[in-house]
Amino acid sequence: MVVILKENVSQNQLDTFVGWLHDQDINAKITHGVHTTILGLVGDTASLDIDIIRSVSIVEEVMRVQEPYKKANRKFHPLDSAINVAGLTIGGGTFHVIAGPCSVESEGQITGIARRVRAAGATLLRGGAFKPRTSPYAFQGMRAQGLELLREARAATGMPIVTEIMSVAHLDLFEDVDLIQVGARNMQNFELLKELGHVQTPILLKRGLANTIEELLMSAEYIMAGGNENVILCERGVRTFETSTRNTLDVSAVPMLKKLSHLPVVIDPSHASGLSWMVEPLSLAAVAAGADGLIIEVHNDPEHALSDGPQSLTPDQFDTLMPRLRAMAEFMGKRLEAPLPLPEKDA
Ligand code: PEP
Ligand code: MN
Repeated sequence: MVVILKENVSQNQLDTFVGWLHDQDINAKITHGVHTTILGLVGDTASLDIDIIRSVSIVEEVMRVQEPYKKANRKFHPLDSAINVAGLTIGGGTFHVIAGPCSVESEGQITGIARRVRAAGATLLRGGAFKPRTSPYAFQGMRAQGLELLREARAATGMPIVTEIMSVAHLDLFEDVDLIQVGARNMQNFELLKELGHVQTPILLKRGLANTIEELLMSAEYIMAGGNENVILCERGVRTFETSTRNTLDVSAVPMLKKLSHLPVVIDPSHASGLSWMVEPLSLAAVAAGADGLIIEVHNDPEHALSDGPQSLTPDQFDTLMPRLRAMAEFMGKRLEAPLPLPEKDA
């Protein structure tokens, strides 16, 4: 961090400021110019509050020369991270498709979809049990019962399950979930992120509706700083002035996140567009941009889905999409992992 001081700062003021920094284990390398004095701060500057320094009366300007995130930063971890999700490896050169309905609706629905998407090559099963809905009158998800149905679908197909947590109070219910999703609306629920730092379950962290890439990485940092380094980042479209799509997919987030961080990056083309017909081109673009995986909504009867029907593919459409994705992923040099084996009784 570099601090530029105002003109005519007295030696006494400078000593007080440098002493205050020292108390926080920060050393200041002082350079006196003709008109200005510049301090180069050395130490754990990530823990310094830049706004407090900016508010010090003798400070003219403060600039960070290093990102405020450490554990998520590629500078300190040059190789891609590979996250183990129930025996599958996400990141580090592999490619995975997470597929399933927006919401778990019944045993037949979730297990039926699971069988179909697995047969097409999806490796993980998604399904919302606790749903963040804009309206309190809309379907809120099957909650604990939905989690139970996901477990049944996992037992039937061997697919690891991915589902969204909305409250710290539900953490016990998520104990055996294979990949816990933090939704866009909770990306900056810092108390939730801190608690997720204390478990070892991998976390799928979705970018907030109007959050910057740095904010996404700072949220990943919250989880990692707590001790859980198993974080997968997800770009799912951001709010822009455009109204013809539900959100706007920020494809540039993929190469940027890959440059700044070693964490795997997954794209959600379903929430990004809100349109089932756009899922294929956005998915192909995401793979071409270097994504490590996709999370795609698939429903057996989109017209009657209890949430997000218009953006859901049918299992038949998913069957058509998968070979194209596979070809693009192979072209990008990714290693495609096969679904985990079917449990014994169904094998
Ligand atoms: C979802 O995955 O169904 C969901 C609600 O996603 P997001 O948090 O990205 O809106
Ligand atoms: Mn959804």
